[in-house]
Amino acid sequence: CGICGVVGHRPATPLVFEALRRLEYRGYDSSGIATLVDGHIDRRRAAGKLDNLQAILEAKPLAGTTGIGHTRWATHGSPNEANAHPHTVGQVAVVHNGIIENYEELRDELTAAGRVFTSETDTEAVAQLVDFHMEHGLSPQEAAFATLQRLQGAYAIAMIFAHHEGLIIGARHGAPLAVGFGEGEMFLGSDSLALAPLARRIAYLEDGDWCVLRPEGVSFHDARGELVERPIQTVALIA
Ligand code: GLU
Repeated sequence: CGICGVVGHRPATPLVFEALRRLEYRGYDSSGIATLVDGHIDRRRAAGKLDNLQAILEAKPLAGTTGIGHTRWATHGSPNEANAHPHTVGQVAVVHNGIIENYEELRDELTAAGRVFTSETDTEAVAQLVDFHMEHGLSPQEAAFATLQRLQGAYAIAMIFAHHEGLIIGARHGAPLAVGFGEGEMFLGSDSLALAPLARRIAYLEDGDWCVLRPEGVSFHDARGELVERPIQTVALIA
């Protein structure tokens, strides 16, 4: 029910976790964080309260300066650890709020292509499709764009990619998503509240937009893939 992302130079996990705390008010049944560690995707997930995720993170810390996090309000698949986000498939980890309405069609296609699904979620179809495209030689940006063009339903999405340090791709269709601007670091969040302690300058994706976040900045693209500009607003910094 909430997503966030961090690319920069500081350890991502504490920043992502704090943002998840600020999204708790939306309600959730499980949570998780994924980061890049030496180029590989690593993650921690837990059913139930963020305190459960915190305990797991304390026992098994999660390093990395590129990370995404999620609080889940289950719509497809029970609220257990296996269905908690991020969903990692091969080269990509995905967090998603909302519903992918055509996920059964996508799952059937991908299963026919030899892919094996490991969760009950609609979200996994997104991760599987991105990884499928990457396996066929597409870059993260190309794979994300090709995937977004196939998705029906309401979603806010964030993804990270193995061996692509300092890269997050976000997308918005019928669910809000905001970008926060830092100094040599950039943030993604479901709302300005999640970003409030991290960034004073915020830009909202418009419906159908997707964005490419790097530590030094962001590019916005519309649903046709064209580069677009989105206005930056300055908000009060909340301690
Ligand atoms: N439909 C997705 C799921 O059930 C995302 C739910 C959410 O918005 O948290 O896993």
